[in-house]
Amino acid sequence: MDLGLKGRTAIVCAASKGLGRACAEALAAEGVALVLNARDPARLKQTAAEIAAAHEVEVTAVAGDIASAAGRAALLAACPAPDILVNNAGGPAPGRLTSWCADDWSNALESNLKAPVAMLAAVLDGMAARGFGRVVNITSSVVRHPIDVQGLSVAARAGLHGLVSTLVRAHVGRNVTINNILPGPFATDRLISNFTFRAKQDGVSPEAALAARRAELPAKRFGEPQELGRLCAYLCSAHAGYISGQSILIDGGAHPQLL
Ligand code: NAP
Repeated sequence: MDLGLKGRTAIVCAASKGLGRACAEALAAEGVALVLNARDPARLKQTAAEIAAAHEVEVTAVAGDIASAAGRAALLAACPAPDILVNNAGGPAPGRLTSWCADDWSNALESNLKAPVAMLAAVLDGMAARGFGRVVNITSSVVRHPIDVQGLSVAARAGLHGLVSTLVRAHVGRNVTINNILPGPFATDRLISNFTFRAKQDGVSPEAALAARRAELPAKRFGEPQELGRLCAYLCSAHAGYISGQSILIDGGAHPQLL
């Protein structure tokens, strides 16, 4: 299916690897020009070059911390009028209520709540004026199915979901949609670092913790980032203008729920 995105421009935050990169690749495959962000300039530059070569689209790398005003300003200066915004950032530190320090709270709120909100504030009016806009926020399945050690993630991301729910109706009439993708366990570095934390708690090796989790998943595997990337591209497509304000769980059936 042609997603009707050829010639569009997207900002993809936190996109040098993992789920952000997969979203960037899926959009590039549809002919979308990209402006990519991540903190490590060397890895971001390499990712940008690889995507540009594979898909013959313009890919601009703007290194910076999406949690900082300067990082966001640089990104928006490179792409002041995006058609598509994919909000993403690193996830908060796992832990316990009594172990998170003020910096942990500040990092989680800056990266996973205030940064996407600031990006939304910067782009929504322009999208509405131009009559096309797609925003996808990558959040987490923990917003719907909390995990005890992911309290910071739940707290910050639930705030973003709440805010989005107040924005949808004012924008959908101008063909601007905002949706959240809630990943379950996907095979990325983030998953491995989470399992390293859990393995330490349980006194087993990270490999054993990963294997045990894989075995208990209904799909018997972790999600592939490309699967999430293609969902993101569809939500950004010309055909998805009637889907807005949705939080779409992509977890291989890992979380039981009434349909
Ligand atoms: P990942 O493989 O570790 O990739 C993270 C990407 O984000 C990298 O490109 C990293 O590059 C960039 N990044 C991190 N912090 C940043 C910042 N402050 N500013 C700009 N770029 C930043 O992680 P992932 O698995 O793709 O996870 C992406 C998001 O989905 C996270 O919020 C994670 O919590 C969430 N999530 C993941 C899973 C999963 O199973 N993988 C499940 C639920 C939710 P630099 O380090 O160079 O900045």
